[in-house]
Amino acid sequence: MLYTSTRDNSIRVESSVAIAHGISSDGGLFVPVEIPKISMDDISRLVNYSYIERAKYILSLYLTDFTEQELDYCVNGAYAEGKFSDKKVAPLHTLDDHTEILELWKGPTCAFKDMALQLLPYLLTTASAKSVPGKEIVILVATSGDTGKAALEGFKDVPNTRILVFYPDNGVSPMQKLQMTTQEGKNVGVCAIEGNFDDAQNGVKKIFTDKKVAEKLDSMGMMFSSANSINWGRLVPQIVYYVSAYCEMIEKGRIKAGDEINIVVPTGNFGNILAAYYAKEMGIPVKKLICASNANDVLTDFLKTGIYNKNRDFYTTISPSMDILISSNLERLLFILNDMEDKDIKDWMKELSETGRYQVSEKVYDRIRENFEAGSCDDKGTKATIAKVFEKTNYLCDTHTGVAVAVYDDYVSVTADITPTVIASTANPFKFSASVLDAVNPDMSKDMDEFDMVLGLHVETGAECPPQLANLKDKKPRFTECCKKEDMESVVLSMLNNK
Ligand SMILES: *Cc1c(COP(=O)(O)O)cnc(C)c1O
Repeated sequence: MLYTSTRDNSIRVESSVAIAHGISSDGGLFVPVEIPKISMDDISRLVNYSYIERAKYILSLYLTDFTEQELDYCVNGAYAEGKFSDKKVAPLHTLDDHTEILELWKGPTCAFKDMALQLLPYLLTTASAKSVPGKEIVILVATSGDTGKAALEGFKDVPNTRILVFYPDNGVSPMQKLQMTTQEGKNVGVCAIEGNFDDAQNGVKKIFTDKKVAEKLDSMGMMFSSANSINWGRLVPQIVYYVSAYCEMIEKGRIKAGDEINIVVPTGNFGNILAAYYAKEMGIPVKKLICASNANDVLTDFLKTGIYNKNRDFYTTISPSMDILISSNLERLLFILNDMEDKDIKDWMKELSETGRYQVSEKVYDRIRENFEAGSCDDKGTKATIAKVFEKTNYLCDTHTGVAVAVYDDYVSVTADITPTVIASTANPFKFSASVLDAVNPDMSKDMDEFDMVLGLHVETGAECPPQLANLKDKKPRFTECCKKEDMESVVLSMLNNK
């Protein structure tokens, strides 16, 4: 299996090169040149496998330059017993007759990013030992909250790596902020920036593609790589849990092998839902992929009209990990749907950076309509949904999952489609205690601090706060710096010189 770039389809590299570099030097994203297929026989076999065995099989189809021993080492390490609080790793919770919640937040940081970021350090260090031996890998992360913590936790004290995380000072929840500022580990750094997530992401991209900075790093025996979902090593672990969820549905007797399902994904950077698209193209029978957005509904409009237009207000919402106006991974979908022709992609991405808007061709638009549905939900609707789900089923959703449930409810009321459905649940509700408590009992949260609200949410709902969140209460912040977006480069260089 070889990989090409969305902006230069003549490129051919092995997966270890794609993962070690993170992004192609032409500015494009790496994608496999073809999507491997799995048959219903394969799926029936996978039903009897553990999550780890399913992961090894799926990864072996994409990472063909990794040896079996290497894949064993990576996957066994990432999903070892005790790292995830459920032995199924990504279990299904039955919500009602035709809806299953895929709980992707049983890992160390309580958000779905752990599914990929527990594995990525293993993939990245194995890949770089093959393709750029001797280099120290510097991970730069722009985060809207969850990626930063999950990446820090995944990479902390991993030999031959350093990790630096930038987050928007006013764009993450107090719990997310504390999770990052209290991070332990010798090779880690965290800095707030004055600005929003797109500012942080643009700043990181700029440093990443700056030739002078790259030369400076090279002279220090270092190179940049990315832990954002532009790295193929972030996406491939996510394909696994959609295949695994289909197997679980069969195992639970919810469907028979071959039956169609719908998949609903609360979406920000388009990584998670793109992984679901890959699972569909591999052979998982999916009727519709339903893309759920919060008030930042640029993707909803795009998937409905074929026009991407980021010239609109940016909202800070109660589902901050989806507060994004430029969804990087969409470029991969467009490239695939455009039969891997790179010219249109380059044109559209150029238009996007110059005017903030582009319109895809009729062909690509038709293919989007075949595969995707989309909807959005504002904060008020999200809170109402969290309250309704809790009242009806005693199940507590976080705010991101609340958006997905709301959009799915709208979809069902319009289409009356009762195809069995998997809703991706992306965070533990205690990560967003203030908003979730406000949803289930608006009177209770007045004048409470973050940890009073954790307790309040527990008392109100009976749900248990995971210990790694509850224990933050007694930790002292270690990283308190906040910089201007123009100063990100000097922050990076001073952190790297600092050891
Ligand atoms: C990152 C994140 C999302 C968005 O996922 P994308 O892959 O960026 O679309 C949704 N919910 C939570 C809790 C997240 O951390």
